[in-house]
Amino acid sequence: MKVETLRDELLNAGATLVGIAEVKDALKGEISHLGRAIAICVNRNLNEDTVNLLTSLESKTARWLKQRGYRYLCIPPDSDRWKNTFISRLYPLFTHKIAATSAGLGWIGKNGLFINHRYGPRLSLATVLTDAPFQVGTAIEFSRCGDCSMCVEFCPSNALTGRNWSRYEPFTQLVRPDRCNSYKKNSRTVNGRPNCGLCINICPYGRKIFKSEVFSSEQLISRNS
Ligand code: SF4
Ligand code: SF4
Repeated sequence: MKVETLRDELLNAGATLVGIAEVKDALKGEISHLGRAIAICVNRNLNEDTVNLLTSLESKTARWLKQRGYRYLCIPPDSDRWKNTFISRLYPLFTHKIAATSAGLGWIGKNGLFINHRYGPRLSLATVLTDAPFQVGTAIEFSRCGDCSMCVEFCPSNALTGRNWSRYEPFTQLVRPDRCNSYKKNSRTVNGRPNCGLCINICPYGRKIFKSEVFSSEQLISRNS
């Protein structure tokens, strides 16, 4: 079954990337009957407007699937993780990164974030699980960070281990969250949350100025302060 009409609808409605993944092996008990994931990415920071856009794209997807008689489950954008809502209990069962990497849209960088060749780590994600028999993309299996380790070198809290991601070793520690969180507590807040963002801004993927402009760590920190 082809997904083009749904993909076109979502792209016209503001999605940046849409991919389909086979995720049956990644699903646990309650949701294991939904073997496909529709990964939806938008090239924006995860603020309230972005959450609204992602939620409306998920609703559009849900309507499309329902009209054709397929089952579905919307995993909302990550911002809901902090709200302690019922839906937030789904996160331990499935993460957006699994869908997006399995769909072939990108990999997990040394900064622990989803990275796409064109947009880098500057994407916000949502996922709709379904039993619709869509043709799926080719999963990305290994990190494509290559020799780059800029985020590791410049992280002000030494929170990044510098290891490479592989889908076959999902529990490899890329980020030491305690170090990152304790640094961010003393940084400026964005939308009421502690923030740093240096490991996003420094990533050469999706960063047009990369080849012509080299920042020192102090400049990068001041760009984020
Ligand atoms: S957000 Fe800042 S402190 Fe945390 S891992 Fe990224 S660069 Fe390091
Ligand atoms: S800065 Fe370099 S090492 Fe870090 S995520 Fe981006 S490409 Fe990978």
